[in-house]
Amino acid sequence: MRPARALIDLQALRHNYRLARELSGAKALAVIKADAYGHGAVRCALALEPEADGFAVACIEEALELRAAGIKAPVLLLEGFFEASELALIAEHDLWCVVHSMWQLEAIEQTPLHKTLKVWLKLDTGMHRAGLHPDEYQNAYQRLLASGKVARVVLMSHFARADELDASTTERQLAVFLAAREGLAAECSLRNSPALLGWPQIPSDWVRPGIMLYGATPFEVAQAEASRLQPVMTLQSRLISVRELPAGEPVGYGGLYTTARTSRVGVVAMGYADGYPRQAPTGTPVMVAGQRTQLIGRVSMDMLCVDLTDVPQAVVGSPVELWGKQVLASDVAAQAGTIPYQIFCNLKRVPLEYVDA
Ligand SMILES: *Cc1c(COP(=O)(O)O)cnc(C)c1O
Repeated sequence: MRPARALIDLQALRHNYRLARELSGAKALAVIKADAYGHGAVRCALALEPEADGFAVACIEEALELRAAGIKAPVLLLEGFFEASELALIAEHDLWCVVHSMWQLEAIEQTPLHKTLKVWLKLDTGMHRAGLHPDEYQNAYQRLLASGKVARVVLMSHFARADELDASTTERQLAVFLAAREGLAAECSLRNSPALLGWPQIPSDWVRPGIMLYGATPFEVAQAEASRLQPVMTLQSRLISVRELPAGEPVGYGGLYTTARTSRVGVVAMGYADGYPRQAPTGTPVMVAGQRTQLIGRVSMDMLCVDLTDVPQAVVGSPVELWGKQVLASDVAAQAGTIPYQIFCNLKRVPLEYVDA
């Protein structure tokens, strides 16, 4: 059997969820959209459900998958509904629903419903992606309550640059939020992972941790709270071939790498078809046989090459960690010019194996 695997450490997932609660002192919706950032939404939800305040997903398809698996906890739809016909299902399955646009508010007013909704009313405080304009926010809130279809409203917004610890835009977004919600007696939710870890002064009755649950930092720089996270996914495989090459020999597609000295080169069963980033350059860290070494040459679809010259114990069959507790996914992502969010979401073909001990 091909040895490529992603181990998912459910204890680490729980540790990170508890850390989100501890640091924020708030209720926490575990964000498990996009199949829990590639970690498997149903298994992650089942592991967290005994202690979680609820979950957040992108859309009703993802929410119904959780309900079908028996998840009873609150589930928030982060983009609400895409068409009014979803409202009946949202009510029936007791899903919580973001309202980010006036057309959604109008659809709620116009659609007859048997049960009341729980709405998270989203304000655009400066990211300018989704959310109501500050001038229409209070009115939208009153209309929701007046519709008779909404049992409870949570006020929410989202930050564009909370991962930049010195960006003044986060404080400005907060000021816009506080002004727009003045006088409204409702809970609020502002903090995603970077805001939760890096901006303790921001109020939030509910926090929405995503990437931090999976143990990856949202920051480009070292950060004290983020260093307490435990990586959840270990992407691993094995060496399937080892060869010796003299100096001056090319390795892999395009001959992108040339041996600088007499070298041992290992081939790992892992490639971009598994989601390992093709953009990762020579020098990207890889653990082989318990020792840190580096990727060399171009990543191919099913294989990649590593330098074993200084890893004498490495032989065919030796274990390889592409990312996990030794090599951080955020470091691999940075090398590849992307973010851990994307390399987790890109994972495919590799079987997920859950570890809970
Ligand atoms: C995805 C998402 C989150 C989680 O963001 P992280 O940076 O992964 O913590 C929180 N809130 C909203 C609205 C989101 O779409």
